[in-house]
Amino acid sequence: MTREADLGSLCSWLDASPTPFHAAQSATERLSAAGWQKLDRFAEGLPSRGVRIVDGSVLAWKRGAPGSPYRIIGAHTDSPNLRVQPNPETGAAGTAQLGIEIYGGVLLNSWLDRDLGLAGRVVARDGTVKMFHVGDAVARIPQLAIHLDREINDRGLLLDRHAHLTPIWGTSATGFRDWLGSVTGTDDIVAFDAQLFDTQRAAVIGRDHSLLVSGRLDNQLSCWAAVEAMVSSGATSDHTVIVVLNDHEEVGSDSVTGAGGPLLANLLAAIDHEEGLDPRRAMDRRAESWCISADNAHAVHPNYQERHDPRHGPILNAGPALKLNGNQRYATSARGAGLMRALADSEGIPLQTFVTRNNMPCGSTIGPITATNLGIEAIDIGVPQWSMHSARETVGAEDPTRLRDLLSAFANG
Ligand code: ZN
Repeated sequence: MTREADLGSLCSWLDASPTPFHAAQSATERLSAAGWQKLDRFAEGLPSRGVRIVDGSVLAWKRGAPGSPYRIIGAHTDSPNLRVQPNPETGAAGTAQLGIEIYGGVLLNSWLDRDLGLAGRVVARDGTVKMFHVGDAVARIPQLAIHLDREINDRGLLLDRHAHLTPIWGTSATGFRDWLGSVTGTDDIVAFDAQLFDTQRAAVIGRDHSLLVSGRLDNQLSCWAAVEAMVSSGATSDHTVIVVLNDHEEVGSDSVTGAGGPLLANLLAAIDHEEGLDPRRAMDRRAESWCISADNAHAVHPNYQERHDPRHGPILNAGPALKLNGNQRYATSARGAGLMRALADSEGIPLQTFVTRNNMPCGSTIGPITATNLGIEAIDIGVPQWSMHSARETVGAEDPTRLRDLLSAFANG
């Protein structure tokens, strides 16, 4: 594919996926179109290329020789955002407002003065679940005027997490459930998951078209790269390739569909069982396997260069970054780093290294969780970006395809 087609494919994915449920659907649609068979229950038997969607998470696989080592690529579908409360109707000063709950480590100021849409799913009394995606701007959180907040530019913006982020969705809006009923064509809604998102579409910007901007680049960029890597990886090795896209990474991964839950372990057990593996051989198989946790890294910000170690600060458009942390917040060992460096060199893909400063706490990923739960050695790697957890983030436009190509080489490899 051309650069334009690759970036168009990523931007379309991002625009179509305002929530983890939609991201899971985007992944499944892409895989189905490439010949992957959808599976609802493991007991149906596992096809050679299959995909299973569970709420906001996805399991997909391409089976190799029976008993062959696993090559697993993991990423997360969720991003920090604002979610509508169960009883949301409120308002003051002639406005209709929606109460919200903050999900994950939101960069709060980035949600001010943006045109916000709503997406999620509704549950009807008979248990029917229907997804919705309203791309029109239906809400906004106006920032206080500088005349009413005179010291803001000197002391910084102070936001009360509960009081100051309540969106306005009109001056005469109807009840929220009635509105959901009309946009989904559902009578008798008994519950919903509804998330706000920035309606501005993903775009390639810059005088030289070198930057890609969008919401949810952390971490749907990696979800896109993982799925495209699986689709494009050929049959040059016997490995069994798995892509696992988990929800709930931004809130600690402990859930049925998070990396702390049993989704991936269940898939491995199902494949091992179908291939008739002795339990001891299944343990050995895991010890021979590798897992990549693909998740974005912090790029050096030109206005804040002191926030990085000068020898371990990745920059935009210079390739994906290996993420290392001796305290195991990232899982990459020297062995894992060596494997990726050899793959990157053989494919001609530039590879950077990220290590956090000793006086700056380090985030984590699903890599160490997967390694701990399954005994499969993990490698943390990701595209460098600015403004992580902003409503609109920035990456280098050349890096997403490099991550895809590196993941594809890993799958083949
Ligand atoms: Zn992330």
